[in-house]
Amino acid sequence: MERPGSDTRPDRPAAFHCGWLLDGSGAGARRDVVLTVAGGRIDDIFPAAEGYQGLAPLDWRAFTVLPPLVDAHVHLFLSGRNDPVLRRRQLDPGPEYVFRHMADRIRRYLRRGILAVRDGGDHGALALALRDRYRQGRPDGFVLRAAGRAWHRAGRYGGVFGRSPAENQRLAEAVAADGRGIDQVKIINSGINSLTDFGRQTRPQFDPDDLKAAVAAAHRRGLPVMVHANGVQPVADALAAGCDSIEHGFFMGETNMARMAARETIWVPTAGTMAGCLGTLAPGSPEADGARRLLDHQVAQLARARALGVTVAAGTDAGSPGVRHGRAMATELGLMTAAGYCLGETVRCAAAHGARLLGLDRPGVLRPGAPADFIAVTGPPEALWKSLEQVRAVYRNGLPLSSSLALPGMTAGG
Ligand SMILES: [Zn+2]
Repeated sequence: MERPGSDTRPDRPAAFHCGWLLDGSGAGARRDVVLTVAGGRIDDIFPAAEGYQGLAPLDWRAFTVLPPLVDAHVHLFLSGRNDPVLRRRQLDPGPEYVFRHMADRIRRYLRRGILAVRDGGDHGALALALRDRYRQGRPDGFVLRAAGRAWHRAGRYGGVFGRSPAENQRLAEAVAADGRGIDQVKIINSGINSLTDFGRQTRPQFDPDDLKAAVAAAHRRGLPVMVHANGVQPVADALAAGCDSIEHGFFMGETNMARMAARETIWVPTAGTMAGCLGTLAPGSPEADGARRLLDHQVAQLARARALGVTVAAGTDAGSPGVRHGRAMATELGLMTAAGYCLGETVRCAAAHGARLLGLDRPGVLRPGAPADFIAVTGPPEALWKSLEQVRAVYRNGLPLSSSLALPGMTAGG
């Protein structure tokens, strides 16, 4: 039995006969295609019916091939388990404890074909410190983008994820003065959803002019700005300020969505947070009922966003209660499907749109000339939300990422 791609060398062309291929462009799955690799890049994609053209492809007819995924919103310092003792420990940990667990979470992302994540902040800037350990890049190519500490107003929601500007300091001054090598600025501009008071909106945390100046200060430093915002006004202010992405956006409403479509602001809906939360609550309780309504509301917003042409990137908010690292991606994509996204569109949200948001040097689309980064899962694309649980192969630059990822059951030849 030969491992997939075990004879692949960077200088040697390789070919894969894929049962199905979702290229990440938004198009539907193509059946029975051959993908060829040369020099670490995709050389060609053509129907298998045209013949192998002298190649001896690996037999991947039982698999669906798609681009590696990107989780655009995570908090690596939290596990997402609903264990109060564990959660307290995660909030006040020794750095080595956190680093060990964060590294384990990254392994879980890799196993599920998620090769890049964007961390939305923690009070100790621990994800940023972890990224600094990978300053020269990880050998497996995993990309961690980190916001360091998120900004929130003193006395308002967000202390777990960051810090506040000093007294008498404007947000814009704080953002301009923050010298650490972050990848993006994270600003928290609202509260969170209420499980018992459906639709309750919170005031913006920051003055709109200050917010605008803060975004401009970040952009002057070459840093994109992600804004946590729920409710009409907090989202409207963030959009008027020129932010790069809206995180969550519950109850933002259609006018804001139309603005996002026009400005090409990316939305990261994190709808699965409510599914995760629901799983931690006693069935039939008012809180569970509230979580269910919030989930339905966000799926309905997603359907409107699709109709309006909003660019959506898949982010899970992994680390939130009931939202587990790696595993949560399938839930998020399943919710997009429930909102009417076709399979190809969900993969585009989870790959190309994520790649754009993170500023990756690869497009997240399988096309000739692109880096030969792809993953393979068992079965047809319709089974994707289940099969993503056990990704069968992860390739980067045309090579299997890790031999430990090459599971038995994939053989060369017919
Ligand atoms: Zn978050």
